[in-house]
Amino acid sequence: MVQELRLRISLEEAHQPDILLQKAADFLSIPVNQVNAVKILRKSIDARKPQIWFDYKVSVYIDEKPPESLHYRFDYRDVSKAPQVHIVGFGPAGMFAALRAIELGLKPIVIERGKDVRSRRRDLRLINQERIVNENSNYCFGEGGAGTYSDGKLYTRSLKRGDVRRIFENLVYHGAKAQILIDAHPHIGTDKLPKVVQNIRKTILKYGGEIHFNSRLTDFIVENQRVKSIIINDSKEISVNHLILATGHSARDIYELLDRHHVYMEAKSFAMGVRVEHPQALIDSIQYHCPIGQKDELLPPASYSLVQQVGDRGVYSFCMCPGGFIVPAATGKSEVVVNGMSPSKRNNKFANSGIVVEINVDTDLTKYEKYGVFKGLAFQKDLEYLAFVAGGKNLQAPAQRLTDFVEGRLSSSLNETSYQPGLKSAPLHSILPKIIGKKLRKAFKAYGQKMPRFYTELANVIGVESRTSAPIKIPRTNNLHHPQIINLYPAGEGAGYAGGIVSAAMDGERIMEAIKKGSI
Ligand SMILES: Cc1cc2nc3c(=O)[nH]c(=O)nc-3n(C[C@H](O)[C@H](O)[C@H](O)COP(=O)(O)OP(=O)(O)OC[C@H]3O[C@@H](n4cnc5c(N)ncnc54)[C@H](O)[C@@H]3O)c2cc1C
Repeated sequence: MVQELRLRISLEEAHQPDILLQKAADFLSIPVNQVNAVKILRKSIDARKPQIWFDYKVSVYIDEKPPESLHYRFDYRDVSKAPQVHIVGFGPAGMFAALRAIELGLKPIVIERGKDVRSRRRDLRLINQERIVNENSNYCFGEGGAGTYSDGKLYTRSLKRGDVRRIFENLVYHGAKAQILIDAHPHIGTDKLPKVVQNIRKTILKYGGEIHFNSRLTDFIVENQRVKSIIINDSKEISVNHLILATGHSARDIYELLDRHHVYMEAKSFAMGVRVEHPQALIDSIQYHCPIGQKDELLPPASYSLVQQVGDRGVYSFCMCPGGFIVPAATGKSEVVVNGMSPSKRNNKFANSGIVVEINVDTDLTKYEKYGVFKGLAFQKDLEYLAFVAGGKNLQAPAQRLTDFVEGRLSSSLNETSYQPGLKSAPLHSILPKIIGKKLRKAFKAYGQKMPRFYTELANVIGVESRTSAPIKIPRTNNLHHPQIINLYPAGEGAGYAGGIVSAAMDGERIMEAIKKGSI
């Protein structure tokens, strides 16, 4: 017999061995030796009050064995001679489109401007240590896309857009820990992601797909409302039947290329701001109601989620990374862009998070109207350049102590940071446009009321968090192709249909299903 239960275990009880077995037996009023196994379906932590609880949803197996943990069977088969689908971009959208193609009996041919994960790591070292950005190989471009050297948080709100469980199970199939199937806020970690990405590459190649690194889409030829061929690295022409464009939100050259071909796009609202960095021990102490440095070993490094309405605008935390690093996520030479990532153990001594303000492209960017569909992009670029200049034009990021930022004074010294290229003290409060700076300052004060000690001089504010989502949308019909070009399928975050790893992966799968259903 199998019974589903919800169990609450206090932090103190959680230290006892086999406590779940014991609690399940007590709940069902049966002897503990009758419980064959307790399988955790979901685990979360309730730390709202000083008494901390672990909440479990479990299946209890009484005189019965638990089944295998994966529900899905990934039915990969040889597609080396199957109809071809070309996919530009090997981020989550491109990877999952390719995997789905193989399941559906189609041959994926992936074109990726960056390098494989190993070679890519050398370019990341160059960025961090020599402050040199390779425009084709960086934190956004290369095998696995922006998702590889990320936090690997797998939380998504896009539950209606696809089968989240299928994506998680596929990640486990390719080497992620099964723990992601259980945690309420699953996370893989930047040290584990490259292996998962490599395993996905191996599956694609094993079953007859192709992946071409160092191959940038530079042009395409359209005939009779169809992309007839694509041009790689300005030299090689390849004929295509179906083209998935999954190039992410940092491929600005792709937006320009589409514009040159008069492919219709729309400006879209997005969010921008800064990253804030605190000592992790302080965040643990606030969230777990314990003295600094005395977090219980069973508790993971604490996270937070903050939102404040300032006037007509939401100001919210974004991509919070407990025990993480702030990374230079620029893709071009004269820009400073920050983002965050963390290793699987989240054991670095800093907690960082984007704190961003919604930017409404219809009402906030009047000065940028002349850029038409590119107005949001132009605003992003301007801010990234301002940050570059304020940081000293060498990839150092402009920064200020949080309290100085809010009170409007330059910081005479800064706190220690995880951002490897280094920080430069700069008056971010006056550099950021009012629409962002003023709202951030009000929100930070309010956060300090909601989460006492968050508002502290021990935190740095670091600029700029500018690439939270794409400022442009590439439209598509109900059949998921572009309205003007019937074999062009815009996908993932760069096209405006995803906001993270899981939603991009689901979008890639959907696109491939639409192609299979439609015309092959
Ligand atoms: C540092 C960092 C941390 C992040 N942390 C998280 C997180 O914890 N959780 C989460 O859900 N999301 C996170 N994100 C966001 C997440 O990575 C993206 O939402 C996701 O990767 C988008 O997937 P995508 O496939 O649409 O595009 P991308 O991942 O951006 O992939 C696009 C790919 O296209 C390639 N490409 C671009 N132009 C061309 C061209 N002309 N020719 C050929 N190839 C091209 C690029 O090299 C890239 O590999 C993070 C992002 C960064 C940068």
